[in-house]
Amino acid sequence: MELILLGPPGAGKGTQSKLLETRYGVAQISTGDMLRAEVKAGSPIGLEAKSVMDAGGLVSDDILVRMIGDRIHRPDCAKGFILDGFPRTVPQAEALDKMLHSTAVDLDAVIELKVDEAVLVERISGRFTCGTCGTGYHDKFKLPKKLGVCDACGGTEFIRRPDDKAETVHARLEAYNAQTAPILPYYKAQGRLYAVDGMAEMDEVEAQIEAVLRKIGVPPAGV
Ligand code: AMP
Repeated sequence: MELILLGPPGAGKGTQSKLLETRYGVAQISTGDMLRAEVKAGSPIGLEAKSVMDAGGLVSDDILVRMIGDRIHRPDCAKGFILDGFPRTVPQAEALDKMLHSTAVDLDAVIELKVDEAVLVERISGRFTCGTCGTGYHDKFKLPKKLGVCDACGGTEFIRRPDDKAETVHARLEAYNAQTAPILPYYKAQGRLYAVDGMAEMDEVEAQIEAVLRKIGVPPAGV
């Protein structure tokens, strides 16, 4: 199964792609996570990407296309992959098409998660994760049961992404509207685009995505 989850920051791409990874045994590929790992490692890519990411802009197509080109050929992609955060520009989408054509792999679907902008700002600016196991929380919607202690692993260190600050969130939404939204007509013209209501509860969004997968003939998980 080769899938793209598209949508603005905070739409739930990360949450849903992790659920799909578990259910279908395909690799979840988040270019944001890959770039954050490069920044943490202090690599040349990380050094170049950091200031752009902190400002809410997009890292260059060249870097991203090279990163994805390597990543989708790793062994954990044998059963397929879900791209979360890539492509984010039309040139990235075109480069991905070329890569897939050359390996005779076909994209099954591009699923857009639709969420109102006001909701996105609220979702993003309150989110934080456990620094030990990565479990996600939110100031308003999902606090740990015991304040300051991770429900999943008992960790007591929590992380907020520097680009989740309210002022940066607006720049990220602008980047989405200006540079990423034009991908939607690109995939619509290919007949691959499906939309789901990203405002719904997490389980309901998951069910809508599964309904799309059934419709296009992807066998249910576990089959
Ligand atoms: P994300 O975790 O998907 O919200 O990505 C965090 C940041 O990483 C974005 O705001 C961009 O600065 C950068 N980034 C992630 N994926 C891409 C991409 N495909 N193209 C350009 N920049 C990206």
